[in-house]
Amino acid sequence: LEIKNLLVEYYRRKRIIPAVRNVSLTLNEGETLGIVGESGCGKSTLALAILRLIQPNEGKITAGEILFPVTGDRLQVTSNEWVDLLKLPDEELQKIRGGKIAMIFQDPFTSLNPVIRIGEQIAETLRVHQQRAMSPALARKSGVNSEQRVKEKAVEILRQVRILEPERVYNSYPHQLSGGMQQRVMTGMAISSKPKILIADEPTTALDVTTQKEILELLNSLKKELDMSIILITHNFGIIAQYTNRVAVMYAGEIVEEGETREIFSKPLHPYTSALIRSLPKLKETTNRLSVIPGQVPDLLNLPSGCKFHPRCEKKMDICSKEEPYLTGLNEQKVSCFLYVHKR
Ligand code: ATP
Ligand code: SF4
Ligand code: MG
Repeated sequence: LEIKNLLVEYYRRKRIIPAVRNVSLTLNEGETLGIVGESGCGKSTLALAILRLIQPNEGKITAGEILFPVTGDRLQVTSNEWVDLLKLPDEELQKIRGGKIAMIFQDPFTSLNPVIRIGEQIAETLRVHQQRAMSPALARKSGVNSEQRVKEKAVEILRQVRILEPERVYNSYPHQLSGGMQQRVMTGMAISSKPKILIADEPTTALDVTTQKEILELLNSLKKELDMSIILITHNFGIIAQYTNRVAVMYAGEIVEEGETREIFSKPLHPYTSALIRSLPKLKETTNRLSVIPGQVPDLLNLPSGCKFHPRCEKKMDICSKEEPYLTGLNEQKVSCFLYVHKR
């Protein structure tokens, strides 16, 4: 997936909030790309924009391209053609959304319908995939449309996301499951279409650390089993370090640093990235206070001049409040900071 110069804006009382600004990013085949940053920096907006899920009454994607390679038949394009998801007609995008690209939303507890049994919710997702994948005549002929087959497949999915006693869970309501189990169900629904890309938006934020680890390990194994790429969104740099190959650090709607996770973790360049890493508790160090980043994320309606991080930056220079740095490559690592790049 290749995102180029993406701009997403929301409307608030006749004012425009630039939530994602000039974001360019590549997701390579088979990798897990982390997106990290404090609350409100635009992580979910970026994820929603990939699938064109920004509600038209709330905002819009104002500029950019999101290129995705599709193969033949279903989208009626020749093999290996790249399509711009932002330009695709709605009915064609429907085949990709929840199909080749699936998403686990930030809040699993509100994503499941509380009055419908788990199995029925998964079965409904499977029926939609089937309808999109083949004509009703073909579905009838192959027999896959039978309710019995759908039920078996739903149970199989529950087993795939390592739910013990899948038949019992099939007949349960969401409130009868723990948070971790609900997240497994949501993951199952997302992977039921065998997506090429799975976008997981803070999949473990509401869970305790043990369950968090189990879900992240599950995503890792599913990635290998299904040969997927993952975009993993989190505000936790510890998760990034353990589960991603590459990482993009976002601040106030922009990417400020990007590169191989191992490189960035051992040698962060941007002062914001360093501060995020320093704020992690360390197992071998005893300290009374964890390091904090002073100040707050800026109000997007009132962004500071120059570098958006300058009011909080301990390395700020004169130029930082006057000019805007831009993301530029230093080997594999890219950074947007005047400590490394000169004025355009
Ligand atoms: P979190 O870590 O809290 O999930 P985030 O990085 O996912 O944060 P977003 O939810 O993408 O951040 O929000 C980015 C900015 O856009 C925030 O300032 C937020 O207030 C604003 N925003 C998000 N959704 C809307 C909306 N529907 N209408 C108006 N503003 C919005
Ligand atoms: Fe800090 Fe200046 Fe770099 Fe911004 S450009 S992060 S203010 S040193
Ligand atoms: Mg979010």
